[in-house]
Amino acid sequence: MAVKVGIPGALLFYLYFPMWQAFFNEIGVQVVPSGRTTKSIMDKGIREALADACVPIKLFYGHVMDLKGKVDYLFIPRVVCLNRKTVYCPKFLGLPDMIKYSVDDVPPIINVRMDSRQGRFAILKAYCEIGKYFGAGKLSVIRAYLKAAGIHYHYNRLLRKGWSPLEAMELLKNPGADKICRPPKANLKFAILGYPYAIYDSFISVSIVEKLRQLGVMVMTAENIHPALLALQKNCDLPKRLFWTLSDIVLKAAHLLFKRGRIDGVLHLTAFGCGPDSLLNKLIEMEAKKHRNIPFMTLMIDEHTGEAGMATRLEAFVDMVRRRKEAEACRR
Ligand code: SF4
Repeated sequence: MAVKVGIPGALLFYLYFPMWQAFFNEIGVQVVPSGRTTKSIMDKGIREALADACVPIKLFYGHVMDLKGKVDYLFIPRVVCLNRKTVYCPKFLGLPDMIKYSVDDVPPIINVRMDSRQGRFAILKAYCEIGKYFGAGKLSVIRAYLKAAGIHYHYNRLLRKGWSPLEAMELLKNPGADKICRPPKANLKFAILGYPYAIYDSFISVSIVEKLRQLGVMVMTAENIHPALLALQKNCDLPKRLFWTLSDIVLKAAHLLFKRGRIDGVLHLTAFGCGPDSLLNKLIEMEAKKHRNIPFMTLMIDEHTGEAGMATRLEAFVDMVRRRKEAEACRR
């Protein structure tokens, strides 16, 4: 029977799951993802995590609890840096230790450090370390890594076409389906700024993407923008980039989207208890003030975010933007 590795459906799951799954399958390991977030998963996370942790971290704990007892290993890499420039938030860096020392009877954790600043082949070496847990030789690891990198490339292309991560994961299972289906179009276009694990986890974001689509709004996020375009953006008048990878991406996306002005509204989804967001929120607000012609709203999510409250705010915002657009069209 194949060894089972559990991958919690939170945090970097939304960016790297297809790649990780392809890698493990290629070296003969079965991957077990935790399910979609439910109230029971959230409650388990709240019980296990420190009270002052941000909501995505609490959710990660919940997904770990969901996998406990079902898998032989948990895959929780220590992801430090993947672009040689910025580092992930300190919570990502301490994640394997936090889980190991605070969750009872947790399965063995595959805890490899991924830090591309340590050399040209640092990430490949990290994958070789993963392979050692399962007795995979260097050649088979390299083969698996190359296949996984190909899947990651294809996955990112789907995201750039406008699909959400979960939709893109489904499309990967049906090669060619992306040529037949198209992401939904609508007469309003909003940008949602925020971390992918907050926006696309429909439990904590209270299905923000689906709700907007139902209201006739096309949604775009930083994941739908080509990284090369983001790399060209300068962060306000800051002398240097933000230290934290995902915050830097969100800020760059904010600059690009506000400047290009081809959107009807911008929503910033911020997570309660997030350290980097205390700075990022201010910087995005400063940018929004420079572009007063584009309506902007911040929404804070936590483990108690209510569906009705979120739906009311979204409906009111969409309504306001739609009337404004209609009034502008009449004036022309
Ligand atoms: S960036 Fe913020 S929301 Fe994300 S893990 Fe770090 S503290 Fe939590």
